Amino acid sequence: MGMVGLPAASMEGDLSVSSDFEGGSVASVEIDNATRTIRFMPGGDPARGWPCWWYFRVDGVEAKEQITFLLKGSDATVTVPGGPPAKPLAASWAMPEAATYSEDGVSWRHTEKGLREGDWMRYQVASSADGSLWIAWGPPYTPGMAARFLKELAVTSPAAEATELCRSREGRAVPMLAVREGDRPSSGRFGVWIQARQHAWESGSSWVAQGFAEWLVGPSPEADWLRQNAEVFLVPIMDVDNTATGNGGKDARPQDHNRDWTPAPHWNEVIAAQQRVLGLAKEGRLDIFLDLHNPAPGDPTFFFILPDKLLQEPMVGLRRRFIDLAYDRISKIKPLIPMSNKPKETGASYHPLWKQISSNWVCFNGNPHTVSLCLETVWNAPSSTPEGYRSVGANLAAAVSAFLSERPQRR
Ligand SMILES: [Zn+2]
Repeated sequence: MGMVGLPAASMEGDLSVSSDFEGGSVASVEIDNATRTIRFMPGGDPARGWPCWWYFRVDGVEAKEQITFLLKGSDATVTVPGGPPAKPLAASWAMPEAATYSEDGVSWRHTEKGLREGDWMRYQVASSADGSLWIAWGPPYTPGMAARFLKELAVTSPAAEATELCRSREGRAVPMLAVREGDRPSSGRFGVWIQARQHAWESGSSWVAQGFAEWLVGPSPEADWLRQNAEVFLVPIMDVDNTATGNGGKDARPQDHNRDWTPAPHWNEVIAAQQRVLGLAKEGRLDIFLDLHNPAPGDPTFFFILPDKLLQEPMVGLRRRFIDLAYDRISKIKPLIPMSNKPKETGASYHPLWKQISSNWVCFNGNPHTVSLCLETVWNAPSSTPEGYRSVGANLAAAVSAFLSERPQRR
């Protein structure tokens, strides 16, 4: 929840802004009721991650009026953990080409493209009815949504179990889905681990995870094969605390979640995920580990990988095969999801804490055949919507099924 500049006495027909709900974030609000214009910045405590996420509700909207939103980058200084205060985060992280809005708080669509005017980005929304509208950096995906979604899946699919990975440091449940079907014992199943949202602002990655889960419990023969032959664990939101409180999460103190994969992690979610993942590795069945993110503003969809030269076969060849299968599917999605088939590398030159990045840590602590990668899904494209993200997740899941069906059957 972010700070809100409350308007003085609210009058009939006045607009008001609030962010005191799960995932809400906004700061420096100024409302001009005459021109129906709302000026704002992203909220969030920079000690809890990059202040680039924003999400709030506007009340007092009248039917068929146009509301103008003027967004400025946060002026809060940010630091790398352990480092001195640095200059504010580049505004581009907070400024999608199109914002995302909703008239019911449930279904989300893009605004028209925003117009950059100096330090400001101008978005406009035409309302269809009296009431409220919600507007955000991207389609919100909160811990409450994750819990409800997993419970619904478990009700409709006997193969799905809605459970908890752990409790967060602030006591929140971390929802987790476990999927398996049939009598095959665990030892005879491929192990698949899917996690999203180690960085709280990257809401699109949770929608990708949801699309993966929806495909997995769906009717296709490939999904049925995966349920029968694998055990799949899926965590739609790792950093539930920063997601719930509308903070950015990335570079949060004392440790970014995705630099926390050490022998003694700070975050409960990382501790619990490591235990589960190491358990699969011990049983020789840590087959797939996927860490889901959203990238930089100008990036397409791509995989982050450890450089080949740091790894041995069969890991390198298997990983190449998986990337090919995933690219072949995701790049054919309509409408187009921009994707590069050339992975980027997260070795020593990428970040000083490169060994503590989850997908890298898993390469070093997994099995010789483990395929461990990070998928970054484009967030600044016309297809960066719930539908587009879910489609990426569905095609990623299909690639997992295709990949594992080529592997020797587990006994
Ligand atoms: Zn990230």
